[in-house]
Amino acid sequence: VLDRPPSPEHKRGANSTRSPGNSFMSYRAVKGMNDILPDEVARWHALERAFRETAELHGYAEIRTPVVEGTELFVRSIGEATDVVEKEMYTFSRHSESLTLRPEGTAGAARAYVEHKTHAKEPVSRWYYLGPMFRAERPQRGRYRQFYQAGCEIFGDPGPACDAEMIDMLVGMFRRLGIPDVVASVGSIGGAATRERYRETLRAFLQPKAGELSEHARTRLEQNPLRILDSKDPKDQAACQGAPNILEVLDDADRAHWDALRAHLDALGTPYVVDPLLVRGLDYYTRTLFELKSSAGELGAQNTLCGGGRYDDMIRELGGPAVPAIGFAMGLERILLALGPMELPKRPPCSVAPLGARAVSKALELGRALRDAGVTADVDGRGNSLKSMLRRADGLGARYCIVIGDAELDRGVVQLKDLAGHSQEELPLGDVVARVAHSGGAA
Ligand code: ATP
Ligand code: MG
Repeated sequence: VLDRPPSPEHKRGANSTRSPGNSFMSYRAVKGMNDILPDEVARWHALERAFRETAELHGYAEIRTPVVEGTELFVRSIGEATDVVEKEMYTFSRHSESLTLRPEGTAGAARAYVEHKTHAKEPVSRWYYLGPMFRAERPQRGRYRQFYQAGCEIFGDPGPACDAEMIDMLVGMFRRLGIPDVVASVGSIGGAATRERYRETLRAFLQPKAGELSEHARTRLEQNPLRILDSKDPKDQAACQGAPNILEVLDDADRAHWDALRAHLDALGTPYVVDPLLVRGLDYYTRTLFELKSSAGELGAQNTLCGGGRYDDMIRELGGPAVPAIGFAMGLERILLALGPMELPKRPPCSVAPLGARAVSKALELGRALRDAGVTADVDGRGNSLKSMLRRADGLGARYCIVIGDAELDRGVVQLKDLAGHSQEELPLGDVVARVAHSGGAA
């Protein structure tokens, strides 16, 4: 369950409370940050495995960067006049440095690319990452303050072939995962020159409607009018109706890139729709932009599963050489919401139930031997009754329960209960591991 019902503690914004009259403290996770309990983790593993497999098949290698970066990195790369930088960052200072919990993964990857002079070692780098990101947003279904992203970056390839391959990879991965109704929107915002021209055109279009805009959008009209296209405020969305289309003002090189991208997607048969007003929340994009949405499952309004695009100027702006780049990030919580329940194979464990003090040591030894043979084993060393141990074995979904009592120990045998077949047989102690391992108890 990803959504935590708001509790009074949450409304007060406190994560611990003191009950009146006693000193008992009840601690809670920070608002918008969730525990992922062991019974939910199997779905996460399945999704992470699917992502890693897909990325590795496409030649991406994993990079792990710190969760904390210097604040300036995000301000510089994401852009000052963006929601993320203006109001969503967790920033603190330590050792007189301003630090920020990463709100996204691209800035750190790009910083690492420059810092390690990766461009000098290989012409094209394909990296993927997976991990927690932090944004101080209003928590709701599919929107959290700590959330997980998986993403890919390609450095050193100007596209458009790799842009098409990346979009096709995502469409294919979501199809294999079984997420229904996925729509890939694709657009282009051109390079710096095109964008500067479009900014003027858009400002001229919105200026007469300034009165209809939200207060926040009005402050952006001067510095960053493109952001208004991405606003979720209905007033801004209405004002943007009929706005000039950036695809009509692309310069020749941007247009050639855009046309070739669509030609590749068409040749691949990748389903997509053109969205001329696609503007993504971060300022660093150039040319290709894309988003994958789904109306599936419990997504509701937070239905963007994945967003990405090209950011050809970032590496240079971070002090590196002029290396083109493209990447995407997808929100794992949202994908899990879209997926709904998943069929997950469960490895049936084998239980070991010792009766009597001497038998416990033998049971521990047997547990180790079973695991060495690849069998998931649970040894019940609580000293409880046979009935209670069988109940625990059942609860674990065990296929077998091996019962060892002191009497069996003296005779060098065990009782092997087949909990699925409701049968029982006596076996020499030395044979039981091989027997369980060969009858499907092993992975
Ligand atoms: P949105 O428009 O929904 O705020 P965004 O444009 O801010 O998304 P990106 O920065 O492009 O999102 O991040 C890529 C993906 O990460 C999103 O498509 C979404 O799946 C996920 N994501 C972003 N913010 C959150 C969040 N606060 N909680 C959960 N997932 C998120
Ligand atoms: Mg956002």
